[in-house]
Amino acid sequence: MTARTGEVARLLREDLRGRTPYGAPQLDVAVRLNTNENPYPPSPGLVEHLAATVADAARSMNRYPDRDALALRTDLAAYLTRSTGTPLDVAQVWAANGSNEILQQLLQAFGGPGRTALGFEPTYSMHQHIATATSTRWLPVERLPGFALEPGAAALVVNEHAPDVVFLCSPNNPTGNAVDLEVIEAVYAAARGLVVVDEAYAEFSDRPSAVSLLDGRERLVVTRTMSKAFAFAGARLGYLAADPAVVEALLLVRLPYHLSVLSQAAASAALDHADELLATVDAVKVQRDRMVSEMRGLGLDVVDSDANFVLFGEFGDERGTWQGLLDRGVLVRDVGLPGWLRVTAGTEDETTAFLEALRQGMATTDGEAPG
Ligand SMILES: *Cc1c(COP(=O)(O)O)cnc(C)c1O
Repeated sequence: MTARTGEVARLLREDLRGRTPYGAPQLDVAVRLNTNENPYPPSPGLVEHLAATVADAARSMNRYPDRDALALRTDLAAYLTRSTGTPLDVAQVWAANGSNEILQQLLQAFGGPGRTALGFEPTYSMHQHIATATSTRWLPVERLPGFALEPGAAALVVNEHAPDVVFLCSPNNPTGNAVDLEVIEAVYAAARGLVVVDEAYAEFSDRPSAVSLLDGRERLVVTRTMSKAFAFAGARLGYLAADPAVVEALLLVRLPYHLSVLSQAAASAALDHADELLATVDAVKVQRDRMVSEMRGLGLDVVDSDANFVLFGEFGDERGTWQGLLDRGVLVRDVGLPGWLRVTAGTEDETTAFLEALRQGMATTDGEAPG
């Protein structure tokens, strides 16, 4: 019996029937470059510090955690202040189990039945997914050629549809390009609803953060995560910066004690090692830029990337290319965009393995040549 047939299917919300769950393949392959993780595991020093911090936290595990995660939010505010140059205080920062939970809380509070969320596609598929899960109508708008956004056009479409929530993803997943601050300003000015800038990959970009635009913009929200640059995907920690009124609104929908004692302690400990964790960012960017130039050398189209991944194409049969790479031990992401594939920048060795597998595939299969 599946959720598509039988009794359960009859009981399931109509708007969820026939949907497929989010699912990047988790395959046991030598080179995994499909989920934009940081390839460098934590140092032994950090692991030790984490273990000690968690052991300490475990002593009070009979008690519920701090519901409002004040200590962790203070650390996150300090990190954002330091890294963006925009002073933020604890009341402007909120944290949850991954930025996906942050996005879900935002849509629970500001979306929902009868409301709409607009996004510029192709973009992070979870924006649509979470919209659907919260019964928020999804309004997809196509990006310009080259996957660009332009202030005038973006503002126009936002003004026309007047969505309750607008998502801007910068750098954008899966295309890799960042959104100019002018676009964010124009969209904000045109929007009546909440404007959410998903900055999951901000640390890989040299551009200014949308955090610098928060002052005086009560409806602007910037979401971040420790899953990518911070090499902390397994711990599940995402956060946002916004007006304190937005944070207060999320308290209405968050589950009490949503962030465990262990998550809060581990994230605070990791933030103590921020410089060390982020030191790998430069190494990742070197491999990203190497992939861009070598793939262009192979005659492929590659979108400029401000993130830790690269969108490349165009293939007549991207599924065939994906399988060909997998057969050679390299897992990349088929993001469902005809002609294109996405690859995460890994270590130098992983990147070499990917480029080698790609070259071999292109040399041996006519169908995999750029189309
Ligand atoms: C990976 C990613 C996230 C992060 O999700 P977490 O729940 O924090 O792991 C958020 N937004 C985008 C665009 C991403 O690619």
